Amino acid sequence: MKVTMIGAGYVGLVSGACFADFGHEVTCVDTVASKIEALNRGEIPIYEPGLDVLVNGNRFAGRLSFTTDLAEAVKGAEAVFIAVGTPTRRGDGHADLSYVYAAAEEIAKAMTGYTVVVTKSTVPVGTADEVEAIIRRVRPDADFSVASNPEFLREGAAIDDFKRPDRVVVGAEDERARDVMRAIYRPLFLNETPILFTSRRTSELIKYAANAFLATKITFINEIADLCEKAGANVQDVARGIGLDGRIGKKFLHAGPGYGGSCFPKDTVALVRTAQQFGAPVRIVETVVEVNTRRKLQMVDKIVAACGGSVAGKTVAVLGLTFKPETDDMRDAPSLDIVPGLIEKGAIVRAHDPQGMKEARHMLPQAVVYCDGPYEAMESADAVVIVTEWNAYRALDLKRAAQTMKTPIMIDLRNIYDPADVSRHGLTYTSIGR
Ligand code: NAD
Repeated sequence: MKVTMIGAGYVGLVSGACFADFGHEVTCVDTVASKIEALNRGEIPIYEPGLDVLVNGNRFAGRLSFTTDLAEAVKGAEAVFIAVGTPTRRGDGHADLSYVYAAAEEIAKAMTGYTVVVTKSTVPVGTADEVEAIIRRVRPDADFSVASNPEFLREGAAIDDFKRPDRVVVGAEDERARDVMRAIYRPLFLNETPILFTSRRTSELIKYAANAFLATKITFINEIADLCEKAGANVQDVARGIGLDGRIGKKFLHAGPGYGGSCFPKDTVALVRTAQQFGAPVRIVETVVEVNTRRKLQMVDKIVAACGGSVAGKTVAVLGLTFKPETDDMRDAPSLDIVPGLIEKGAIVRAHDPQGMKEARHMLPQAVVYCDGPYEAMESADAVVIVTEWNAYRALDLKRAAQTMKTPIMIDLRNIYDPADVSRHGLTYTSIGR
């Protein structure tokens, strides 16, 4: 099938490349010319494991191409996916839909023949209706359907998630659109992936409900971790003890510095606003947002306390800047609160991240010193903080770390070390909820 993907970011590029790998003929469109030029040279603008091989393999096979020319790419397409950003709108917390609506207008002008326009971006309930109204207004004569197909991939495991999803959700109001969506995802049905057909509004809400639930689960265990610290219990054992209950499940029960990333923070806030607008407030999610926002800042106090009450004039090594491992995505990462917070309190920050430093330079204070590796970051440091659990930090030579630092203090915000093991190597160790 001929498929067009509008937006070649984390979702658009991965989805486009995977659809091409399914055998479809895919064109990815982006407004950022440098991104398209890079892709046409075989360079991948983001870090996502395995994406370079997937993109270039399909590019060479002639199934995947990149352009800035939306009209040309939409011409003759059977399905056009909108995978542009939906960041938080300044001022009111609603999702900013301007990129989605702009794309819808452009698509409307360029469509030829029956086309299914699919919102893959995470969009509030009712957006597909609005997309349909826009296209109808621009092109009263057009033959088209609008469907909703929210994406559930996780950065860092995006390709596997796309090719082996727990489920595919499609919101559509007519059989023609459902048929096209079925044909596009046919390779997955052969793997018996459940496909859930719903109304468009339901589909839009499923995505927000899923993210809000996961954010709630994380925030729940984070608060239990705080209680464990005060009560002398171990949050990892609590998580295991509850997670083995099939009704609860083990995943998303890792206590840490608070959730971040390109989705949970903006999607929880947007859901709160949508729910308020409909007069059906989601008070649990409101609390989750508030608790999580506060938590990221509280991590600064935790680090200060571990450093003996002050970090003024002290050197703090920060390991991990991205919101999670195996991505270069810095959007709403806890480090964006923690690092400026430490600098504000007088610390000198020496940071390392395997993939995120390029992006971090635009987002963190100028004063941050970027280092080539974890031991360089720890050079003469008064403390080391593990903010993101990259594999490269999971098996540090603790003896070397203790010798490299001025004072061997480790604050592990991801609980990747065994407290007894770290202490044995002469470091003073603080973690979360243990
Ligand atoms: P992104 O910022 O990485 O990519 C969006 C891309 O769209 C950018 O490259 C931008 O230049 C391009 N763009 C904007 N307007 C355009 C237009 N009119 N025409 C062509 N290109 C245009 O964002 P992302 O992380 O890929 O997220 C996209 C959507 O998917 C969001 O709604 C997000 O919530 C959702 N989502 C993201 C993830 C994730 O892990 N990143 C997972 C599931 C869902």
